[in-house]
Amino acid sequence: MPAAASTLETLSAELTSLRPRMDAVSLAIHARPELKFAEFHAQKQLAGWLAESGFAVRLAAGGVETAFVAVHQGTSPGPCVAVLAEYDALPDVGHGCGHNLIAAGGVAAAIAVVRTLPEHPGTVAVIGTPGEEMGGAGKVRLAGAGVFDGVDAAVMFHPGDRSLTFRPGLAAAHLRVAFNGVSAHASVSPWLGRSALAGAQLFLQALDAMRQFVRPTVRLHGIISDGGQAPNVVPAHAAVDLYVRDRTAASVEDLVGRVHDAAKGAALATGTTAAVGETGPLYAERRDNMVLAERFAEAVRALNVDIEPGDPDGPAGSSDIGNLSVLLPVIHPYIQIARTGTPAHSAAMRDAAATPFAHERTQVAATALGRVVTDLLTRPALLAEAQAEFAARRQAGGRAGERTGERAGESQPCPS
Ligand SMILES: [Zn+2]
Ligand SMILES: [Zn+2]
Repeated sequence: MPAAASTLETLSAELTSLRPRMDAVSLAIHARPELKFAEFHAQKQLAGWLAESGFAVRLAAGGVETAFVAVHQGTSPGPCVAVLAEYDALPDVGHGCGHNLIAAGGVAAAIAVVRTLPEHPGTVAVIGTPGEEMGGAGKVRLAGAGVFDGVDAAVMFHPGDRSLTFRPGLAAAHLRVAFNGVSAHASVSPWLGRSALAGAQLFLQALDAMRQFVRPTVRLHGIISDGGQAPNVVPAHAAVDLYVRDRTAASVEDLVGRVHDAAKGAALATGTTAAVGETGPLYAERRDNMVLAERFAEAVRALNVDIEPGDPDGPAGSSDIGNLSVLLPVIHPYIQIARTGTPAHSAAMRDAAATPFAHERTQVAATALGRVVTDLLTRPALLAEAQAEFAARRQAGGRAGERTGERAGESQPCPS
């Protein structure tokens, strides 16, 4: 297909010319890590670059201050395709997840698309999705505010220690189980007290007892986030922060019911009370759109980088991209920027995310994302195929985890 090859060549050339700015934006974000929902410096870098490149930029999209939507309208009607940018960092370790590369590479991809196809149909959007780390669920908030209404497909890439077309992501509930007891002097009159910490301990033991009786795919893990204040005071308050994960949101919702029962039992046994709350929204499982993921992988291979499918049964974390993947066709492939085995969220990954090699690989990923976006805009059959796969998996996978909040209106990049 000579026409397709020439699109890839044009995109490649545009990305080569965008590279100095891409690197500068990425390194500026890397040098100033910002935690979830405080990413003002990153937002300014990205939004400024998009505005200069002819995109109409709206900050605080969906009522989230550090989010943004940047839109390039085409010259004729057509699909609305969004490139996603994450740009938050981690406490202590900084950009140990390499979101500086996701952001700068995503913006570069979108700019390269509109330079390659100045007369494109439809809409090219960049959606800045802050607060991915630490259960921030920025994408869930944006989806709840209607930001993704009318978006036909969304693409992003993630840096990693290997290149993968897709990788599974577990559904996850983010819970806090708070125990309340009665304080007393721990030596003079302990019988007047009821220890909230004892409730929390027994609750954790109940979870351990449950472990044999859940599917092997389940992950139950937590910490004591409040264990009392002083050894000589019977703790009146204690709390366990807990994640409950499995392959589907429906299974997680069932498990959360069992967690409620375990908390109730532990409270009853210790004369305390327990309240189960959420520290963040439920993350849905990730359903990468394989039609689009394969298109991405083809482009990566054409640029001489190996990429292989992930292991659908392999170990997995969770991300708010899952909640989008049950709402619309989405891809979240990985590009290797660090030596195989480099752990995510580590100092080694942070250092790797600032190297010339990481930026070379980000250019490859951006070119491949650009290829998927141009194909979606110009080949209706590809979008139809992606949508058919999405609909079939939605049918098979159920709709758990799709719940969203109030619609704020007016935030959408595209009319829905
Ligand atoms: Zn990440
Ligand atoms: Zn991360």
